[in-house]
Amino acid sequence: LFAGTTDFLKGVVAMSGMPPADRLEVCFAGRSNVGKSTLINALTGRKALARASNTPGRTQEINFFTVADSHYLVDLPGYGYANAPLPVVEKWQRLLKSYLSGRPSLRRAFVLIDSRHGVKKVDSEIMALLDKSAVTFQVVMTKTDKVKEKDRAKVMEQVKAALAKHPAAYPEIVLTSSEKGEGIATLRAIIAGLE
Ligand code: GDP
Repeated sequence: LFAGTTDFLKGVVAMSGMPPADRLEVCFAGRSNVGKSTLINALTGRKALARASNTPGRTQEINFFTVADSHYLVDLPGYGYANAPLPVVEKWQRLLKSYLSGRPSLRRAFVLIDSRHGVKKVDSEIMALLDKSAVTFQVVMTKTDKVKEKDRAKVMEQVKAALAKHPAAYPEIVLTSSEKGEGIATLRAIIAGLE
């Protein structure tokens, strides 16, 4: 699948701007700075693909990428900016809710969690929304290269305990490092294997 061309399609700020749900779709969610853009770039093998979504002004957009004419890869806005103005947060929550409940082609959400920090309150809130929207989600740990082997286990226990509370959680956790390339092939295979 990822041998095919990946391209940025569009940034969407309202449901009316969504492309037709005519192909299999996966989305990526995570706190700001979790490594989402870097992971999307690593997955698609395109260094600067997801950078557009990180530039100021585009951060509240839902960004659609096409993968090989058969899939949409969707980059959701990074969340957890404590200092974002309330109306901005509310607008994005409304859009996110509409998106998650309004895309029949959405097969799986990947929730990115920083290997150093584990599941934070805002992550749990997104997971609860995914439960409510009946969207299966899978946790992807990022930046594993930043954590020593002995510290990993503790964070993983915390993540597993958090996942146990969410009926929409897919049990397998994917460990990745965009820096080292760990888990990238696994994640590609998971996406390519979705039906
Ligand atoms: P986003 O806000 O979630 O899109 O985060 P970015 O992809 O922009 O990454 C945030 C920071 O983390 C950047 O400085 C990246 O270089 C760094 N980063 C991302 N992935 C990794 C990784 O796997 N390992 C390490 N060591 N740093 C990473």
